[in-house]
Amino acid sequence: MLKQPDQVEDILRSVQSGEIPTRDDIIFMYDEADLNSLGQAARILAQEKSGNTVSFVSNMILNYTNICNVRCNFCAFYRTGTESDAFLLTKEQVIKEIEPYYRNFHITQLLIQGGVNPALPLEYYTDLFRSIHETYPDLGIHGLSTSEISFIARKEHTSVADIIKSLVEAGMQSIPGAGAEIFDDDVRKVLGRPKGSGKQWLEVMETAHRLGVHSSATMMFGHVEESRHKADHLLALVDLQSKYNGFLSFTPWNFEPGNTQLQKSGAVMYRAGGADVLRNIAISRIVLNNSIPTIQSSWLTNGIQMGQMSVLFGANDWGGTIYDEKVIPATGKQVGNLRKDAIINGLNQIGMEAVERDNLYRVIGHYPA
Ligand code: SF4
Repeated sequence: MLKQPDQVEDILRSVQSGEIPTRDDIIFMYDEADLNSLGQAARILAQEKSGNTVSFVSNMILNYTNICNVRCNFCAFYRTGTESDAFLLTKEQVIKEIEPYYRNFHITQLLIQGGVNPALPLEYYTDLFRSIHETYPDLGIHGLSTSEISFIARKEHTSVADIIKSLVEAGMQSIPGAGAEIFDDDVRKVLGRPKGSGKQWLEVMETAHRLGVHSSATMMFGHVEESRHKADHLLALVDLQSKYNGFLSFTPWNFEPGNTQLQKSGAVMYRAGGADVLRNIAISRIVLNNSIPTIQSSWLTNGIQMGQMSVLFGANDWGGTIYDEKVIPATGKQVGNLRKDAIINGLNQIGMEAVERDNLYRVIGHYPA
């Protein structure tokens, strides 16, 4: 029987020759492999892909509504609509909220998403996106989760493809990966996600990619999932990516249990630890290296220091500066914002060159160490 470092070395060699790790390999990396060996293998692969450079984007996340009829057990953000802190922004309010960040921080990406608000017709979104695009023409709109898009299609009695075309025509540039969680239905049942919603996420993304619209991909770990669920999730992404190459990046997020139903019920009391975060980053790099080569660190939930460690464990994108995000603070975790110079400094501190990108990952600036 091979010793663990030898097994990781074998997986590394096969990835370097263009292979995708098998389901058994992935489960081995989750359950048995030595974390340092995984980290070293992942960093070698990241180095081969992008050298000592790590990209980031100047962006803001704007949540236009917190009213949502899905009511996931892992979400502390949603409101049913009757609470005093339920909100829905008008297009004028959205334009006003963006303005200081656009003017002072030269943001190039607007990540805009909210709850699945049953009151909103397609026209709300097309009006909103058109106004944003006309007011801030060089701001890439990274908009709406697959759940929001699917719901609009159902509400308007039309196809997902038609909704995506209308949104793109109004100014949307790409689709965020929110809502992927873990695709497996048994896990989604515990999370309070509707049956079939994992498949639906993949179908909406496939439709977008077929239409030439790029998106991000994500996975949420650290709740009730098992290693096999994560393996199947990653391999489902590889499978879809082989069709249209539409995913621009992958982010593994750790679940934040604060103020969620999952925590209240006692199912998940604590967030994943640092070693688990780094293991997920490293495995993501190793599995997706030949499929989705941009792996994003999730500093938003883990802080700058863990963001730096994630880079050393195979991430090659920092994500964004993030202004005005409301979903993570709803769990009780204070994240704040990160100015561009703090990101550059954080990357330079670990010997990396920071590379500013736009929403479509086009390079717009270099900041060497
Ligand atoms: S995660 Fe999204 S879909 Fe689920 S309850 Fe929260 S806002 Fe709604």
